[in-house]
Amino acid sequence: MDSLASRIAAITGEDNLRIDEPMSEHTTFRTGGNAGYFIVPANEEQLHAVIALLKETETPFLVTGRGSNLLVSDKGIEGAVINIYHTFDEISIERNVDGAVVRAGAGITLAALASRLLKEELKGFEFASGIPGTLGGAVVMNAGAYGGEIKDVLVSARCMDYDGNLYEFSNEELQLSYRHSLIMERKLIVLEAVLEFRSGRYEDIKALMDDFNGRRRDKQPLEYPSAGSTFKRPEGNFAGKLIMEAGLAGFSVNGAQVSSKHCGFVINTGNATSSDIYELMQHVEKVVYDKTGIKLEPEVRLVGNWG
Ligand SMILES: Cc1cc2nc3c(=O)[nH]c(=O)nc-3n(C[C@H](O)[C@H](O)[C@H](O)COP(=O)(O)OP(=O)(O)OC[C@H]3O[C@@H](n4cnc5c(N)ncnc54)[C@H](O)[C@@H]3O)c2cc1C
Repeated sequence: MDSLASRIAAITGEDNLRIDEPMSEHTTFRTGGNAGYFIVPANEEQLHAVIALLKETETPFLVTGRGSNLLVSDKGIEGAVINIYHTFDEISIERNVDGAVVRAGAGITLAALASRLLKEELKGFEFASGIPGTLGGAVVMNAGAYGGEIKDVLVSARCMDYDGNLYEFSNEELQLSYRHSLIMERKLIVLEAVLEFRSGRYEDIKALMDDFNGRRRDKQPLEYPSAGSTFKRPEGNFAGKLIMEAGLAGFSVNGAQVSSKHCGFVINTGNATSSDIYELMQHVEKVVYDKTGIKLEPEVRLVGNWG
């Protein structure tokens, strides 16, 4: 263990630090090179101490959640990954006349939060139950599906900046719009979110969740690794439709393929690298642009060393 690793382990414990960790283990694409240090802080104090140490040693870092919207370079991630997933997963619920205000940690999965809200008979989060990310990642991305998005239910988010200062940003201050938030532009770590829900009936909430998740199973290639929709929805159109009409269903670069089931998804059929996926994305962008004049923009976040 080098001296930085020893100092990180002194903060987090050795079990919460991995060295030269393959990011393919931490992304739903199942691709990507190694992170120098893969750190899982257990709480805010550890997180604060870790970022102070990384700053002192001028070690760059990236914060990740479930890795369900990430394309990590095959060359890996220089420095450290701070992973907020499974930790930071507490939920507290304050009832009011209409429903409840819910405070939940950034590391909780949307599925786990949705299932707790179902038990509590709180409605409004059904749209998120099948999105395979963390609450933190969902706030950053303003994740959404089936007509709902995080913006609709978020009151505020508690964040830490890279100097360890804490902020509570309101919904408006977070500038949430389609797959965009302030957090993408500022160096901020989401710690927890405050959300508001109205009371509902268990059967109705469950029926809506089942409907949305059934539609996902029918329409999406969930049997393959992917990062969901690879491209953002162009205004007034659908990326998957444009890609299909461009004749690209099933088009492959090595193990990376445009899903024939849903052309908006690039899938890893088994042995794709991130470079294969990237090359495929560039080809798709070019063909769609040449045929329609519409520029597709990646929804997937490209991270790591692509130089
Ligand atoms: C099968 C499948 C279906 C999907 N369906 C949908 C869908 O319907 N709608 C939708 O919107 N998305 C969908 N996605 C994409 C993805 O699940 C969402 O974007 C999700 O919100 C990402 O969360 P995550 O925890 O995986 O974040 P990651 O992929 O780990 O990170 C995403 C971004 O957030 C940053 N980040 C993560 N956590 C934090 C934190 N705590 N603080 C600061 N920055 C952080 C990362 O640096 C990165 O920039 C799908 C993905 C898959 C694989």
